[in-house]
Amino acid sequence: MLTHLRAFADLYSVPINDRALAQAQVKEMARRMPLVYLITCISAAGLSFTHYDVAPVWLTLALPLILVLACIARLRYWLMDKGRIYTHRAAIARLRASVRLGSVLGFAFVIWCLSLYRYGDAVLHTYIAFFIVVTVVGVVCCLLYLRAAALAVATSVLVPFFGHYLLTQEAVHFAMAVNTIVVVSAVVYVMLTYYNDFSQLISSNVKTAKLSDENLKLANHDSLTGLPNRRVFFDVLKRWVEGEQNHTPVTVGLLDIDGFKPINDVYGHIVGDQLLMEIGRRLCDFTSDRLTVARLGGDEFGFLATPALSDEDAHALGEKIGNAIADPIQLAASCVRVTASIGIISGGGDSAEANQLFEKADHALYFAKQNQRGRIVMFSEEHENAIRQRSFVETELKNADLDKELTLAFQPIYDQETGRISAVEALARWSRDGVQFTPDVFICQAERCGIMGKLTSVLLRKALRAARAWPSDVGLSFNLSAADIGSHQTMAHITDLVLRSRFPAERITFEITETSIVQDFGRAEAALSKLKELGSNIAMDDFGTGFSSLSYLQRLPFDRVKLDRSFVSEIENDDKTRRIVRSIVRLAHELDISVVAEGIETEGQRRLLLDMDCQLLQGFLLSRPITGADLLKHFRGSTLDAALALDAPKSATTINT
Ligand code: C2E
Ligand code: CA
Ligand code: CA
Repeated sequence: MLTHLRAFADLYSVPINDRALAQAQVKEMARRMPLVYLITCISAAGLSFTHYDVAPVWLTLALPLILVLACIARLRYWLMDKGRIYTHRAAIARLRASVRLGSVLGFAFVIWCLSLYRYGDAVLHTYIAFFIVVTVVGVVCCLLYLRAAALAVATSVLVPFFGHYLLTQEAVHFAMAVNTIVVVSAVVYVMLTYYNDFSQLISSNVKTAKLSDENLKLANHDSLTGLPNRRVFFDVLKRWVEGEQNHTPVTVGLLDIDGFKPINDVYGHIVGDQLLMEIGRRLCDFTSDRLTVARLGGDEFGFLATPALSDEDAHALGEKIGNAIADPIQLAASCVRVTASIGIISGGGDSAEANQLFEKADHALYFAKQNQRGRIVMFSEEHENAIRQRSFVETELKNADLDKELTLAFQPIYDQETGRISAVEALARWSRDGVQFTPDVFICQAERCGIMGKLTSVLLRKALRAARAWPSDVGLSFNLSAADIGSHQTMAHITDLVLRSRFPAERITFEITETSIVQDFGRAEAALSKLKELGSNIAMDDFGTGFSSLSYLQRLPFDRVKLDRSFVSEIENDDKTRRIVRSIVRLAHELDISVVAEGIETEGQRRLLLDMDCQLLQGFLLSRPITGADLLKHFRGSTLDAALALDAPKSATTINT
């Protein structure tokens, strides 16, 4: 019962909780209310006119004049308010006032009409009924959009009307009243269904608008950090740099979080996400009218400043951003500190292209990642030259006859204990039209243009063929790049080559750097287990230069570590390095992992390593990388003593490009 009463009362109330509906109603009311008052005034004038001769003046002039003036005042009010924007509170107040006024005026009008009933003949009586019915139907139709007002007017008019006609106790009047009620009920019913459709339309409009807002947000924003995404970044960059009229100079900055991947690997993706969210929040603080910050993907972010900043200002901005990121970050699991490498270029103007600017900033970032982690690198002329050189190497590589032009140099690894060559590392050499390119340059370029797999196949085939001629206790060490272990196809090819060669897989050690593992731990793990299945060994190359060498040592099946040259070169002068190396050697032995010290150039280094129990040595002191033929000669006097006594054979000549 109570719920029915409440539902009934609701019919007469305005929608306080539905902002969109209230706004739509107030807008519709502003359009229709003048019409309501106009209908009422004209009908009232007609009724006054027809009763002027038979009824007293106060009923045909004074009272209707007051009512009509009230209507005109309201009509003016609505007309003046057309186009006004309402707050929700104002809209609700307005609607409520309309409901109240509607019932008061409706009641006043009907009482006036019924007061005229005492005067005039049957025709005039019928006219009164006609006036009331037609006016109320007209008004209800105009108030379709505000159910409460339509019902209030209908009720305030029809209840007295019905009561009056019943009281006359005339059959015709009773029939008229019933007829009126039926007609008005039908109109009200139509009004109610129309009103429902109207409110549903408004709510579905709201939902559609909300959805399209969300879609727009999804398309343009990164869902994790809430920052604009790569697409927006490029749109803004293109708009500024390549815009129709204005080729605005702009500063492009790209930043990459150092060591993010190991954190993601070690602590898991949830922690990684938290870290990115916090970094996104910190970067967001830099956003302004002149600075757009975006997440470009993974742990890479970008910023665009316009007008372009001077190099000093851009550097200062990079430093501020770097400092903000370097502040400790409290995550659920622990507190971490990360740095960002940043590459920046300021440029633009007449002929610049957005993509070129981006690539240059990317080059500066790459340079920072390789050489100055955690620092800001401004794109310079040197970088411009490097890009030119890179594209030269790329073109040459694509046109190269790899079978013919790729060769190998071999550098022995000596066993201190036996004094003999324990293994030989194969090092790639590429010579084209008399120009020799160093592996540091062409391997990285081959990786970039996606042809590393081809190079590895040629090199491995050549290495396996050469190694077949070596003494049976000498192993082959072969370098694999990140692109190799990241490619199923290359890994399958490597396995195939090893199986088809007549060289025992157990005598091969594949050397892998930590950076290759970092790029995709899952794939690296799969690649390594494939090599282990073959029966080969795996060495972690350049051990100690990365972030998580130890963590990878624990998680992946390494047989050997190759202590990076940077440790060996410091070992004579720095006590701390000595202690680190001693600990690494001890730890590796504990784990049953052999240690090769690379880059030994002095006798002092050799002796120190010997003291530390480091058994396997490699370096210019013992032998530079040499040709296959020289190596075979070398095997004849391959003891360590011989290597030290003789002048180390000359390396295959290389030109640093
Ligand atoms: P890496 O694997 O660490 O190889 C050792 C590098 O150090 C070689 O340079 C070698 O010539 C040099 N080296 C050896 N002993 C000494 C020393 O006593 N002092 C100094 N200063 N340097 C020494 P290289 O041949 O120029 O190779 C550079 C890098 O290129 C290699 O570093 C390796 O990462 C990559 N690389 C070489 N060959 C291949 C290959 O066939 N495949 C792949 N994926 N990478 C290769
Ligand atoms: Ca190596
Ligand atoms: Ca190395």
